[in-house]
Amino acid sequence: MLTRLSLSGFKSFADKAVLEFPRGVSVIVGPNGSGKSNVVDAFRWLLGERDAAHLRGAKIEDLVFAGTSLRSRVGLAQASLVLDNSDNAWPLQFPEIQIKRQVSRDGESHYFINENEVRLRDVQDFFAKSRIGNRGLTLVGQGNSDSFVRVSNLERRLMMEEVLGFKDYRNKKNESEARLKTTKENLERINSLLREMEPRLRILRKQTSEWEKRDELLKELRILENQFFGYELRTIERGAKEVELEIDVLKAALEKEWHRVHLHEKTLRGIEDERPEVHRNMSDLLKAKEILMRKQALIERELGRLEARIELMGKDQEIKAEDAHVLIHESRRALETALNESTMHGIQRVIKTILLEIEHALYKEPRVDSKGILNAKKKYEETIAGLEAELEAIQEKEKEYNALLINFNTRVREAVREAENARLFHTRLLDKERTVLIEKARWGYKHKEICGHLAQAGRNIDEIDTTIMHEPLSSALFQRMHALRNELARIGAVEESTIKEANELESKYMDLAREAHDLHDASGDLSVLIEDLTKKLSRDFVKKMNAVSVAFDRYCNHMFGGGKARLLMDEGEENAIAGIRAEVDLPRKKTQGLESLSGGERSLVSLAALFSMIAVNPPPFLILDEVDAALDEKNARRFAGVLRDLSLKTQFVVVTHNRSTMEAAHVLYGVTMDKDGTSRILSLRLE
Ligand code: ATP
Repeated sequence: MLTRLSLSGFKSFADKAVLEFPRGVSVIVGPNGSGKSNVVDAFRWLLGERDAAHLRGAKIEDLVFAGTSLRSRVGLAQASLVLDNSDNAWPLQFPEIQIKRQVSRDGESHYFINENEVRLRDVQDFFAKSRIGNRGLTLVGQGNSDSFVRVSNLERRLMMEEVLGFKDYRNKKNESEARLKTTKENLERINSLLREMEPRLRILRKQTSEWEKRDELLKELRILENQFFGYELRTIERGAKEVELEIDVLKAALEKEWHRVHLHEKTLRGIEDERPEVHRNMSDLLKAKEILMRKQALIERELGRLEARIELMGKDQEIKAEDAHVLIHESRRALETALNESTMHGIQRVIKTILLEIEHALYKEPRVDSKGILNAKKKYEETIAGLEAELEAIQEKEKEYNALLINFNTRVREAVREAENARLFHTRLLDKERTVLIEKARWGYKHKEICGHLAQAGRNIDEIDTTIMHEPLSSALFQRMHALRNELARIGAVEESTIKEANELESKYMDLAREAHDLHDASGDLSVLIEDLTKKLSRDFVKKMNAVSVAFDRYCNHMFGGGKARLLMDEGEENAIAGIRAEVDLPRKKTQGLESLSGGERSLVSLAALFSMIAVNPPPFLILDEVDAALDEKNARRFAGVLRDLSLKTQFVVVTHNRSTMEAAHVLYGVTMDKDGTSRILSLRLE
């Protein structure tokens, strides 16, 4: 319920003016130009009007008291409306609700609900929910009493919606549609952004996936390489180490052997230096032997002579020629044998035997006169014995020299053999050293080769752990290692900046996609809401409109004393708001269009429509500014009667000059223009 209106600095109300509104009809009267319509303007302004023209001003600051010749102007216009909410009829949980609006001369506006500053929008919403609007029916301005007839079908529909409580739905629908439009635009914008991003993203995704694949391949390759190079390097290191050890051992052995070679050569030289002086002694010995031989020849000659003498001595003794022949022959053979004898002793023995044979042959018994011969023989025998002894001594010496030479030669041979053996062993060691050095070089070459492979693979030797045992790569794994290298080479290098770009674009894309998804959901929700609101605005509205149509017929009949009237909905295009048209058959008149009605008839039809809407769905209050102006006495009375009836359902604030209307008032206010050119309120409470 409307409780109170306070004005201050508003238009002609320079001073504070307060109007209390009881239930029923409050009528405001006063002379022309006293400020009655300014009160209606205050209502309109409080209900959320923004257009200065609708408030009868050029600009919103024109609402501020401009001053008169006797009153200076003010800086702030203010109006407030107090609503009783003890029956919770208003859409706020307060027992009393105050709506206040201010505007300063510099155009600054403020809105308050219960002294809390709010937005204009909040005020508009509050009244829309309360089925109070400024569209022309809850607040009918001066000269607008026939607006229901005058306006277009669509405007009529909107007017009806306002009074019948659909304005909130309409606002919500408009708002939802606007939001849906923006949402769809945003969605389209985002979708087109997403579409724009997609080709680049596809490329980047491919690169990223290749990069990820590359990373995995690289990891696998590293493991295989670590095993491969680890095994190879460890093998090389171990091989090289073994060779080094072998070289050390060989070096030591070579040195030792070289020493041994020297030692043996020195020993040989020493032995050679000890070579016995056998040759000179031997030649002395041979000379002595020769002398002895010559002496032997001399004896043989002497022996020959002796034989000749023996022959002379034996003339008287007949020697058979045959025996002599045998004797000579045997002597000769014995002497030849003796000459072949190597020893002097042998020669002597043979000569002795021959002499005995000769003696035996010649003298079966030795003759006494052969004494001299025998002496000579004895002498020869002694000489031969001497020669034999000498020859024996020489032979002993010869034996001794031979033994010395044999011993020397044996030693030399032994020393040479030893030296040669040592040299051979040394040479063999040298050969072995050469082989091992080649082996060392081979390990070095292998190491270099592996280092080359490492460099080719872009690996550093420090990365390879050779402290652990590695299995050699199986041929399948070796092939895998090569295949991985080929695959990586095919993929090629992926720039880090590309991956960064890919991540950034991906996250931007995901954000936008999420946003698009949210917008899509939101547009779905809005569509559902719009559909719901559309249903309310069509189905529910049609129900109410039909009820209003029935009441319209009744009120027209009442106001015109007969006739027929009804409201019909246009065949609206889909999604467009279907307009409302009114058909009126006045009594005693042919069916005419609304356009041909007289001014008073127009007002009556409009008021009948207003009353029918109030009857179906009474708003909390109505402000009517001289809507009865065009009515004649009889119709004014009818109007006042209906007003009085409907005031049981709704509160009326009516500005009028009409006596009948004044008579319907429960409270009467008089507005006067003071001498200083400002408006004043006089309360003339009737009840
Ligand atoms: P009618 O019966 O002729 O309709 P009314 O009582 O409705 O008259 P209003 O139109 O409410 O009269 O008042 C108009 C008066 O208010 C004018 O005299 C006008 O000068 C005055 N007025 C309007 N705006 C201002 C303002 N900002 N400052 C001072 N006076 C103003």
